[in-house]
Amino acid sequence: TEKLKLQTEKLQLAGEIAAGVAHEIRNPMTVISGFIQMMNSDKNSPSYRYTKLIESEIKRIEYIVSEFLQLSKPSPSLNERFFLRSVLNDVVSLFGPNLDSSSIKLHHKWNAHHMWLRGDESHVKQVFINIIKNAIESIESSGEIHIYSYSKNHEDYIVVIRDTGTGMTEEVLENLYNPFYTTKAEGTGLGMLISEKIMADVNGKIEVDSVLGKGTTFFLHFKKVSPPENEES
Ligand code: ADP
Ligand code: MG
Repeated sequence: TEKLKLQTEKLQLAGEIAAGVAHEIRNPMTVISGFIQMMNSDKNSPSYRYTKLIESEIKRIEYIVSEFLQLSKPSPSLNERFFLRSVLNDVVSLFGPNLDSSSIKLHHKWNAHHMWLRGDESHVKQVFINIIKNAIESIESSGEIHIYSYSKNHEDYIVVIRDTGTGMTEEVLENLYNPFYTTKAEGTGLGMLISEKIMADVNGKIEVDSVLGKGTTFFLHFKKVSPPENEES
């Protein structure tokens, strides 16, 4: 519990800093973006490629800021109910087309049929996106990602995301949920922290099992809820 308390405090602090920084950065970035686009119109200008470069760096800053804002979003109320399978289908169709033409194969199979969850659908979707993105990034040349789900007892639903990527060292595993911890040149180190926060918001949890050189498996535990009254389960 002491560790959990520390983790919660860390999250709160990170969230507060995130909100402040993100809002302060957004406005000047919008102004810069606008002017760069104006300067960018002449393809024959010698500075064209520099403005292109600036534009792509601005995109990156905007991406980091949006990750920050994710982190600082207030916990949603648990009144909303949604159907897990449709979120999973959305996520698979989001990644599927890009992976079809790559050497990474994405397999999925949903075993549990009636999986209603409570919480914010778009937040939970973000968890899947973050974890699948990491899985893709962990595969160096070719490999596989498997996503499947099952219902454990009558209370829990578990979504498993397994990759045949690099796996993690002890050090990486220890730092997995720490803010800004990344082993990637272009990483932000916020994806797993955000995912952990969202899972806690929906009364779920994340477990990880990783073998260096073999791959990583994430287990996302969700609490089952009864379907909305007007829906057949
Ligand atoms: P980022 O992806 O920006 O680095 P994350 O919080 O998403 O930040 O992940 C933190 C670190 O955890 C990654 O840099 C990586 O080293 C490690 N990691 C996460 N998922 C995996 C995975 N599926 N396989 C191997 N390493 C992983
Ligand atoms: Mg990531």
